[in-house]
Amino acid sequence: MTVQIGEIQIGGPRFTVIAGPCSIESENQFLSTANAVKDSGASILRGGIWKMRTSQKSFQGLGSDSFEFIQKIKAQVGLPLISEVTDIRQIEEVSHLVDAFQVGARNMHNYALLKELGSQPKPVLLKRSFSAFIDEWLKAADYVLAGAKAQVILCERGIRTFETATRNTLDLNAVVYAKKHTGLPVIVDPSHAVGIADLVPQLCYASAAAGADGLIVEVHPNPVEALSDADQALNFETFDKMMKQLEKVLNAF
Ligand code: PEP
Ligand code: MN
Repeated sequence: MTVQIGEIQIGGPRFTVIAGPCSIESENQFLSTANAVKDSGASILRGGIWKMRTSQKSFQGLGSDSFEFIQKIKAQVGLPLISEVTDIRQIEEVSHLVDAFQVGARNMHNYALLKELGSQPKPVLLKRSFSAFIDEWLKAADYVLAGAKAQVILCERGIRTFETATRNTLDLNAVVYAKKHTGLPVIVDPSHAVGIADLVPQLCYASAAAGADGLIVEVHPNPVEALSDADQALNFETFDKMMKQLEKVLNAF
């Protein structure tokens, strides 16, 4: 089954790269990132409007203050946007702005949110919770899919294991398992899986080789200054190099 975001088909023959900042921080930051990732070959933008942060004291996203400039940038750059909603009320609020809704790892078990997203026609990118069994993740997808108009893309973003050297552990088992046992497109988020920018490109290649349908990658104009997930964001140059190398990996399969 393929899922369409804007003009882009996910789950078909073409590999899809979604890229952008963890959080949308300012007009300049989002515009420059959107242009850079588009030039390097990304076909969908990402960017957090409301952020689910572990600490309430951390940056929580610009929220509705960013709507106007996001609209402008989307029109200018011409790529679709995927962004996370953390509350049922936000679905309506951003439906004019986003082309697909992201459900974050922390909300994978938020069944009220999943059901509501299943009742509207825009695609839903469902991240796996860092502590969910594959079975729980697929059953969470069923909550969305029970809705009449629902479309789901699964996203593996790393799980908690005994290992602490990396932020999480990328579970490629889950990717190949979900590809085999569901008809849904499956993509990988290597940024949250490993949490260390230098290690992200290799996991992009591994995901492509494992048969994922695409990637969602965090990119920032100046990662050290990022207001969220600074350690894992690629700068423009590294993202561009990764995309060139990725093409070679995809051609080999
Ligand atoms: C994100 O994509 O920025 C994010 C918060 O991801 P996750 O829900 O996977 O932690
Ligand atoms: Mn992030």
